[in-house]
Amino acid sequence: MRLFIALNPPDELRARLGELADFAHARCGGRRMPDESLHLTLAFLGEVEEAQALELVEWVQGLAIAPGKWRLDGWGCFKRPGIVWVGSQAPDPALEALQSMLWHTLEAHGLAGRPTRFIPHVTLLRRAVSLDTRSFPEVDLSWPYRQLELIQSFTDGCGARYRTLAVSQG
Ligand code: ATP
Ligand code: MG
Repeated sequence: MRLFIALNPPDELRARLGELADFAHARCGGRRMPDESLHLTLAFLGEVEEAQALELVEWVQGLAIAPGKWRLDGWGCFKRPGIVWVGSQAPDPALEALQSMLWHTLEAHGLAGRPTRFIPHVTLLRRAVSLDTRSFPEVDLSWPYRQLELIQSFTDGCGARYRTLAVSQG
């Protein structure tokens, strides 16, 4: 099954992010991520065997992460898949430490796929027609977090759907 580890935004922030997605969609086109799918990926694991998935569920359920606050203050894009996102302009040391801790353990368990660069972002649009966000309004959002989630990604005919398999302590 296809798995990733992510933070899910608190409800109020999810609604704010949804408004930004609407705004971006009106100007850039493409496929708007549904509100319930908005997230911050910390580690994309890809296809994982059933037995390994069960181990990951147990690991995540026993995990306690340092609570933090991620500040989102900018728009960005990834050209090739046409992704428009919001995230931060400067590196976030707490998120970097969290991502690094996760991959340290994941690699110790034989999982591969640690990216060469970690750019924390929330995807709002996929396959956008325009990637020009230069005239977009300023973003200044705060994302308090204290738990991460192990999530399964599957398709049901109308895009990717996510299902939370495990939530960390807290
Ligand atoms: P779809 O691929 O159908 O457009 P999706 O990208 O939302 O939908 P997944 O591809 O399963 O669904 O991705 C789940 C999460 O992992 C998303 O946040 C996605 O950006 C991220 N992700 C997917 N593939 C990779 C990858 N190769 N490297 C890093 N992150 C990835
Ligand atoms: Mg994808």
